[in-house]
Amino acid sequence: MRKSGTTLDTSHLAAGKIPNSFRLLRNYTVISLASVIITSLLLGTWVRQISIDNLILSEERSNIALTQVLAHMVWPQFASFIEQADQLEAEEIRSHATTWELDQFINDQVMGLDVLKIKIYNLDGMTVFSSDFKQIGKSKRTHRSFMKSRNGQVISKLSFRDKIYAQNEFIQNRNVIASYVPIRTGKNNRINGVFEVYKDVTPIIGEINKTQTKVIAGVVTTLTVLFFVLYFVVRRADRIIQEQNEVQKKVTEQISHVAFYDSLTGLPNRVLFMERLEHAMQVATRSQTLAALMFIDLDRFKQVNDNLGHEAGDQLLRQVAGRLNGCIRSGDTVSRISGDEFTILLENLNNIETSTHVAQRIVNQLAQPFHLGQNEVFISCSIGMSVYPFCDDDAESLVKKADAAMYFSKQSGRNSYHYYSPDMLQHGSKRYELEKDLNIAIANSQFRVFFQPKVCLDDWVMHGMEALIRWEHPEHGMIPPDQFIPILEETGKIIQVGEWVLKESCQHARKWQDHGLPPLRVAVNVSAIQFHQPGFYESVHSVLKETGLDAQFLELELTESCLIDDINSNIEIMQALKKLGVKLTIDDFGTGYSSLNYLCKLPVDTLKIDRSFLRDIVSDRKKRSITTAIISFAHGLRLDVVAEGIETTQQLNFVTAMRCTSVQGYLLSRPLNQDDFDQLYRSGSDFGYLKNAEEAIPALPETG
Ligand code: C2E
Ligand code: CA
Ligand code: CA
Repeated sequence: MRKSGTTLDTSHLAAGKIPNSFRLLRNYTVISLASVIITSLLLGTWVRQISIDNLILSEERSNIALTQVLAHMVWPQFASFIEQADQLEAEEIRSHATTWELDQFINDQVMGLDVLKIKIYNLDGMTVFSSDFKQIGKSKRTHRSFMKSRNGQVISKLSFRDKIYAQNEFIQNRNVIASYVPIRTGKNNRINGVFEVYKDVTPIIGEINKTQTKVIAGVVTTLTVLFFVLYFVVRRADRIIQEQNEVQKKVTEQISHVAFYDSLTGLPNRVLFMERLEHAMQVATRSQTLAALMFIDLDRFKQVNDNLGHEAGDQLLRQVAGRLNGCIRSGDTVSRISGDEFTILLENLNNIETSTHVAQRIVNQLAQPFHLGQNEVFISCSIGMSVYPFCDDDAESLVKKADAAMYFSKQSGRNSYHYYSPDMLQHGSKRYELEKDLNIAIANSQFRVFFQPKVCLDDWVMHGMEALIRWEHPEHGMIPPDQFIPILEETGKIIQVGEWVLKESCQHARKWQDHGLPPLRVAVNVSAIQFHQPGFYESVHSVLKETGLDAQFLELELTESCLIDDINSNIEIMQALKKLGVKLTIDDFGTGYSSLNYLCKLPVDTLKIDRSFLRDIVSDRKKRSITTAIISFAHGLRLDVVAEGIETTQQLNFVTAMRCTSVQGYLLSRPLNQDDFDQLYRSGSDFGYLKNAEEAIPALPETG
């Protein structure tokens, strides 16, 4: 069986094609942790920035205040020195007593404040004074902050200095706010120069850093707690979603499976099969190979299902599916398309010998016994085949043709295979017609019972007869039972018709007795479906009662395959019938593949050797050995043996020599209608002339 996925567009159904579910937990974790980090950093930075902005603002204000105070105090005293300083060399300024005085003065003013350094620039940007004397004389003319301040703005900047000269020494790692403040003096507030004040804000920055750390820690802690709370919620949600996804996946798989596979056997169903068939036909056209289609119907499935129950029927179908799979290559497809009907698609064939081999293998495989619990069951199958492109059609009609060929196999005795040929479809429609006509036949009593003598080899006199049904069709004439019994069995009508044959046979047997003729035992064929219907025993009982025939004059002919399923309950019915006095015969003995061990258990009186064995005993050494063995087997079990289908004196001499109990066949008499049989009966029915007959005597034609 092809186990690979379907080529159908099942994307909306096919399992495993659900989009991968969103990884909720992972995404939540990544995004949340990133958010915690980013939020903490942003918030920390923001808090720090605000603090620093505020710090700068407040320091700037204090610097403005300080410089105003200084300006007021310094300017009156040192204005003339400052204004003329640009005429001096830097060294001269540095060593000038006024500079020292100014330095002292400023130091006194800023004592106790966090001022690290103060510089004074004239309007040209020259450093006229600096607490760090080395800087005196340097120009800031191109400095942007200076220029802005010179034009009236106050510019403050925070910076970090790893080293700065302040109060006569170098100090390290300081955060410094430097403010350029214009020096305004006089009534008109004219700008006369620029102060630069360096303030040490290291402790405040330290505080700000601490605050920032606290803010970050607080935010991180809060968000982490929130993260974990939500983590558990999200994890639960994630599991629920995953479970739901699993359920959905399974449901989708199941839907897909139900849509394309048979739930009992797990095989592809009709829909999938048709799709594969169409695909195989396309491939065959392209690659110039063949695609063979087999239509397989089980021959005795209904009986097994009826006799052993649906459970056993299901088990049987599963085992059949397994065996069919064992008969094909991987890449070929077995499917179950309905009840007991299977189809097989063989692809990429170069010749039809391959499909013939496969068909033969399947016929052989399905003829082997099946074990259903305690029961050993025998079935067989009928196969019809159509081959693409020989049947140059669409997929549907290819199936129809294989189906018609399957029906042909059924009609030709089952347990066989046939390739489609054009007349088979006609055959199919003929069967349909026949089925319709059978309903009319039942309603209009078109059935007849013929009788064929059974002659005892002890005295060569007829001691019994077999009742054989005929259908007197108004248009087609006398139709033999092989053509309509299978249809009656398939439609279940055999029960009604079989009961009619039983009654008709008993009535006639009794009538002849009433006419004073020596009593004969009438053998009636019983179909498996009839035998297994509930109330079969009761119907036999009531027919005997109704017709008044003594039970010892009724014989029921049952086939091996009818008896072998559910053997224990069969034995019960048989024992009840025997108790009633009815004789039981196994018909067509040797064809049912039954184990002799089973057959020994059956309470029967007679074995009737199938005529296929006797037909060939003269020419076929094997058949002769089997026939000899069957007769010895029957003698061993002290059963009567009937040889049927005797057409030649050679056959007759053989079975006489083998000490068969009685014989039946065209050599003695064909089945006769009731009037002809009546005549034969009354004539004494002595077949002694055949005793020691040397030559074959031409058979008489069947009457009616
Ligand atoms: P069967 O039970 O094996 O019946 C014997 C068949 O062999 C009969 O065919 C009979 O005409 C034929 N026959 C008898 N002697 C010779 C001979 O020398 N040579 C050849 N070639 N054939 C011979 P028929 O009447 O066509 O019946 C065919 C089958 O139909 C029967 O096989 C039996 O299975 C079934 N059948 C007949 N009547 C009934 C019936 O009333 N009920 C059921 N359920 N089945 C029936
Ligand atoms: Ca028979
Ligand atoms: Ca027979």
